[in-house]
Amino acid sequence: MASEDLPNGFTGFSQRRPGFVSAGDAMRRSRATRDAGPVDRDARGFRNTESQAARSGWQVPNTVKPEQKPGPEKSLWGKSNDFFPADMHKYMRVPNADESGAQFDYAELDQIPPVDQRWSWVEVDLSAIHHNTLAIKQLLEPGVKLMAVVKADAYGHGAVRCAKSSLSAGADYLGVATVEEAVELRNAGIGAPILVLAEPPAATIPLLLAYRIMPSVYTAEFAVQYAEAADSIGLRAPFHLKVNTGMNRIGVRFDEVIEFMRRISFHRALDLVGTFTHFATADAADTMEFNIQASHFVDTIAEMRAFGIDPGIVHAANSAAIIRYPEVHFDMVRLGISLYGYYPCPETYGIVDLIPAMSVHARITQVKTVPVGEGVSYGLLHRSGGFSKVCTIPIGYADGYRRGLSDRIDVIMDGMKHPQVGAICMDQSMFEVDLRTRRSAGKLEPQIGDEVLVVGEAGNAVVTIDEMADLLGTVPHEVCIGFGSSRMPRIYIATR
Ligand SMILES: *Cc1c(COP(=O)(O)O)cnc(C)c1O
Repeated sequence: MASEDLPNGFTGFSQRRPGFVSAGDAMRRSRATRDAGPVDRDARGFRNTESQAARSGWQVPNTVKPEQKPGPEKSLWGKSNDFFPADMHKYMRVPNADESGAQFDYAELDQIPPVDQRWSWVEVDLSAIHHNTLAIKQLLEPGVKLMAVVKADAYGHGAVRCAKSSLSAGADYLGVATVEEAVELRNAGIGAPILVLAEPPAATIPLLLAYRIMPSVYTAEFAVQYAEAADSIGLRAPFHLKVNTGMNRIGVRFDEVIEFMRRISFHRALDLVGTFTHFATADAADTMEFNIQASHFVDTIAEMRAFGIDPGIVHAANSAAIIRYPEVHFDMVRLGISLYGYYPCPETYGIVDLIPAMSVHARITQVKTVPVGEGVSYGLLHRSGGFSKVCTIPIGYADGYRRGLSDRIDVIMDGMKHPQVGAICMDQSMFEVDLRTRRSAGKLEPQIGDEVLVVGEAGNAVVTIDEMADLLGTVPHEVCIGFGSSRMPRIYIATR
C-alpha cells in the first residue's frame, strides 16, 4: 500500500484486489488529463464556469485503466497541494461510476452559489468604504493626501475591491504589507502609487521595478542593491524612508537618519519620495508616549531639511492618530482600520461617522427544545432555562467567530438580539431564543434556514466588530480579519 494514497499517510489497507485503483491514483490520473486553467470568478466570488469550461474543454474521465498507473512520484509530504487541491472534488471520479454509469455536469455543480452551500457568509458593503474615505477626508486640511491601507486583503474585506472603492472616493495612495499584495493590485489594473510598508527582501527588487511599487527603506544594503538594479535598466529607485521614533519595530533610528542618508546619498538612482514613522500608542488613553514620538519625528524632519535633504511626503498618522491628533497629519495620512468602518479606540467614538463595511450572516441549521437544566455545547457550560429554542448556526472559531466570545455576545434575528449560548465550536455555534419574548414581540418561532446576523445591524439591534474586539481585549483589526479571511464566502454589496 503506497502511503501517498491518502493525504494523512493512512496505510490501513494491507491487501489490494488486483486492478484496485485507489482514490489517489484516480485523482492523479484525472488531474493529468485536464487542463482547467485559472479559476475565473465573477463579482460575487462565484466561479465563472461557463467560460472556464469552454476554454479548457476538460472532462472528468469516466474510466480509469489500471495499466495507466503513473510512474513513481515524489513523497507526498510537503507536496500535498499538488495532489490534493482545494477543489479536488472537481477532478475526482464519482465512486463506482463504472458500475452505476452516473454522470454529473461539473460546470453545473460549480454554479451552486457558495452562500447556498455554506449557510454562513461575509458581506462587504463597498459604499461604506466609499463613505468612510470621504468622512476621513473631511478631517484633513485641503492638500493632505490619503493613503488607503489595504494590506492583509484589506483587513479581510478584499484588497482589489476596497482599493478601487477608496480611490474612487479620493484616496491618493495605497499601502500594503508585502510585494505580493502590491502585485495583486497592479494585476487588477490599479495604477495609483503603492507603498510597501516595510522593507521587502532584496529578491523582490525586480518586481518593485517592473510593477512600479515603492518600498520602505531602512537598511543601506537594500537601498544600494535597489538603486543599482534600477540604474542598470535606466530606471529611478523611488522609496519612502522609515524612521523609528520609538516603536522599535522597523526603521532607521531617529537620531541616525542624517548619517543614514549620507551613507546612501552617493547613489544617483535613489529618489527619496517620502519619510514616515509609525506610532506605538496612538490608540492609548495616555498621550505622553505619543507626544514623545511625535516630537522626535518633527525634529528629525527639521534636521533633514537643515541638512538640505528634502524628506518628500511626510506621513505618520494611522487611523487613531488621524482622528485624535490633527497636528500629525503632515502631508499624508495612512488610513487602515477606519476605512473599513471601525473605531481604533474609545477615544475616537463620536468624532467621525463611520459605517462598518463588514457584516456576517448565517442560516439556522437546527432548532430544538432543550429540557430545563440540560447543558449545551462542549463542557455543557450553558444550562437551558426552558421556554426556549436552541438554534444552531454553521459558523465557528474556524470562521473567525472567536471562542473567547462564547456566552458573551448576541446574534440578531428579525431585528431582535438573542444570546449566543455555550462554547463556540470550530464550525458551529448555538444561540437561544426565549419564546416568551419572541411571542410578545409577535414573531414566529425560529425555523431551519432563517437568516441570522452574527455581525451587523437590523432594526434597533446591532452587533459590532468593535464590541467583539472590546470583549476579547483585542483590536478590531484582528476580529475583522478573522471573519473576512476565513473559509466563508465573501460577497460584495453596495447599499447606497
Ligand atoms: C497597518 C498600518 C497602518 C494602518 O493602521 P490602522 O490602525 O489600521 O489605521 C498605518 N501605518 C502602518 C505603517 C501600518 O503598518
